[in-house]
Amino acid sequence: MIEVRGLEKRYGNTIVFADLDVVVHDGDVVSIIGSSGAGKSTLLRCLNLMEHPTSGQIIIDGEDILSKDTDIQHIRQKVGMVFQTFNLFDHLNVLDNVTLGPMKLLGLSRKEAEAQGMKLLQLVGLANRAAFFPDELSGGQKQRVAITRSLAMKPKILLLDEPTSALDPTMTSEVVGVIRRLAKDGMTMVIATHEMSLARTVSTSVIFMDQGRICEVGSPEDIFEHPRNECTKAFIHRTRSFNFTVSNRDFDMYRLRAGIEAFCDKHFLPAELRDKVVLLIEETLSICFDGEAGERRDMIMRAGSGMDIRIDYIEANHDIGAVLRCNAELGNPLEQDDDNDGISRMIIEGLADITEECCDDGGQKITMILKATTNGQA
Ligand code: ADP
Repeated sequence: MIEVRGLEKRYGNTIVFADLDVVVHDGDVVSIIGSSGAGKSTLLRCLNLMEHPTSGQIIIDGEDILSKDTDIQHIRQKVGMVFQTFNLFDHLNVLDNVTLGPMKLLGLSRKEAEAQGMKLLQLVGLANRAAFFPDELSGGQKQRVAITRSLAMKPKILLLDEPTSALDPTMTSEVVGVIRRLAKDGMTMVIATHEMSLARTVSTSVIFMDQGRICEVGSPEDIFEHPRNECTKAFIHRTRSFNFTVSNRDFDMYRLRAGIEAFCDKHFLPAELRDKVVLLIEETLSICFDGEAGERRDMIMRAGSGMDIRIDYIEANHDIGAVLRCNAELGNPLEQDDDNDGISRMIIEGLADITEECCDDGGQKITMILKATTNGQA
């Protein structure tokens, strides 16, 4: 359906990408992932001629779209595009947004266009919003209208440029649901996305781009579970961290808890998961400073540089864990007996898998990885 050969795009002396080869078959859903500035969006824009590549070849459905006599409108009808910012016509209601293109460019009568539009709005769950104006809709609904508007042109291929980037988690799920449905119906799609769960669950293949190069192409399993290229590995295992230092037993637990919560919210972790992380840290610190052993630890921390707590969240697989690091030997708090009847310890062991290691500087490191729950997320 799409064959890209040796594609290059430059702006003056800036090379956005060079020597790109991409093949997309009928019914494929290809996700393009990679850091900002990798060239994902520019590649998509070249595929429907919103940008003109500097050199190379793009064949779409057997047609060389870079040839001199290409009809750009015809290509844009064949290759629909959905944008991060929806780009709806604010002065038109939902149905009019969806019927305008087919009436103007495909020659459908209003009646035909409206019948088709209503069918498509039903497909994306928005039939009851047909008379609403864009500013009366949520972001997720706007994006579903934008997808409907593209589908109304009966494209052979749908390009989606960061379709969920402007949305909160609930709205993201709505839009991912629609994209998943289209994939099931056999729509050929190329999606530039930062939403790893979208790339992972909807795609037939994933392209990882870095600095204008395609570093790796593979199935979602290949890319997310067994990346081969070092750049892909670094990107996939990209870890977000939150750090806090506990200087002694009088540390500010409220501040620590607020920090963890803000960190989890920033990365859209479900509230249930956020609460588990808070509980894990609270219970661990409660044991750590409990009883005689706790007093000893307090003294060690006051004499030294305290204990560093790091919460790590790996975006690609949703693993979340905590690392407690102290440059003095504290003794594993989870192995002591004098805590509150072992309840804290039971809670902690229920929540996380724990490993302990001694460090070269004589200190100690305890790693706690939150256990997976039934929905596959930590
Ligand atoms: P991504 O979608 O992966 O974030 P883009 O395709 O948006 O990346 O951008 C790739 C690179 O091309 C960036 O370094 C960006 O600054 C550059 N770029 C994009 N559009 C233009 C432009 N019109 N003029 C100059 N540079 C541009």
